[in-house]
Amino acid sequence: MNHVVVVGAGLAGVRSVEALRARGFGGTITLIGEETHRPYDRPPLSKSVLLGETDSTVVDSDLDALEVDFRAGVAAKGLREGVVETTEGELAYGGLVIATGARPIRLRGDGPQHVLRTIDDALELRALLTSGTKVAVIGAGWIGAEVATAARRAGCEVTVVEAAGVPLSAALGPVGAHTVSWYAQAGVDLRLGTAVASVDQGGLTLADGSTVEAGVVVTGVGVRPSVEWLAGSGLELENGVVTDEHLRTSLPDVVAVGDCAAWWSRRYGRRMRVEHWDTALGAPDVAVAALLGDDAVYDPVPYFWSEQFGHMVQYAGHHDGESLVLRGDPATDAKWAVCWVAEDHRLTAVLAVNRPRDLVQGRRLIERGQRLDVDRLADPAVALRDC
Ligand code: FAD
Repeated sequence: MNHVVVVGAGLAGVRSVEALRARGFGGTITLIGEETHRPYDRPPLSKSVLLGETDSTVVDSDLDALEVDFRAGVAAKGLREGVVETTEGELAYGGLVIATGARPIRLRGDGPQHVLRTIDDALELRALLTSGTKVAVIGAGWIGAEVATAARRAGCEVTVVEAAGVPLSAALGPVGAHTVSWYAQAGVDLRLGTAVASVDQGGLTLADGSTVEAGVVVTGVGVRPSVEWLAGSGLELENGVVTDEHLRTSLPDVVAVGDCAAWWSRRYGRRMRVEHWDTALGAPDVAVAALLGDDAVYDPVPYFWSEQFGHMVQYAGHHDGESLVLRGDPATDAKWAVCWVAEDHRLTAVLAVNRPRDLVQGRRLIERGQRLDVDRLADPAVALRDC
């Protein structure tokens, strides 16, 4: 293999380039990305960028030293065996890394709606978040909560409309209810169990026919993997690019990483697609090893964080109906955690609010599959690693 093409110049793409060189690949690497920017980090877009604390989140990676042929503003349009079709012609490859990430879902309606995925989205939205502006945020998920935080900080009047009965419901289920009070404390009008019918000029029309007036509408209802360009390629696609535990796809010499990859998890015995920064950071080394002929396995305990309404929220693991153990009282304590504990007393997931040690220690316990003393676990004064 003397030429590897990496499609998608986000975090997973640039980490793939770094991993190729770190593993001694001496051939040609071409990195193409449809955005016109150098690879940058997305988590700060809804945090420090929206808050006006920074304008650039470019990843600290020396593309010149990596000797990569980086082509910005070039999109892949199609794939056939050994060739990527791009907006600037064909690229033959010996190995291919698919790292095209995900795109936000937009809702029906002819009114202007903002999404937050790119640095351009973030700078455009930030300019509109001025004191007194009425902002409607659709979705009380991670992005919605962070946008609401920044909009309130800018002095906007903020309404958050959420179809589910609690915030963060897709990620946390009923546990998301513990964040409801944060919205009121921040002066945000949170409307739960409220579906949006359409985004119109001047605001939202709700499913019951009522309206929410807004000068700025931000849609934060999730993303879809960016895999349209792979249609008809013969590559197996199902909720993203299907891979095995080594991140190999159904085509030879093609691997997939980051938000677009649905990999087989040995740990959980199921396919996972995790739209988290930590996945884009960690998966490329395993994928590149597979491309170069090694059999490394990608088997992480998923990790995610969010900063919302002045709280550091961190989650590790994967839960599915296990018992809940609270560490602290979310109604009165500034720092608390929720543990998901299986019948055999193993920790399967932890949510830590302003308790970073619980996150770090909990993640290790999950990785080790260690059994816990549930009575000690319920005492927030006992360190998680001592439970
Ligand atoms: P992306 O970052 O989406 O990069 C993919 C790149 O591929 C994009 O530049 C795209 O334009 C390009 N591309 C797509 N299609 C093509 C094509 N056909 N041809 C060429 N190029 C193409 N995660 C956390 O864990 N914690 C957080 O706090 C957090 N906050 C976030 C805040 C925001 C606003 C966003 C948007 C995401 C956040 N995330 C967070 C998620 C995290 O940023 C993503 O999981 C991560 O960016 C995924 O990296 P990726 O490289 O797989 O995909």
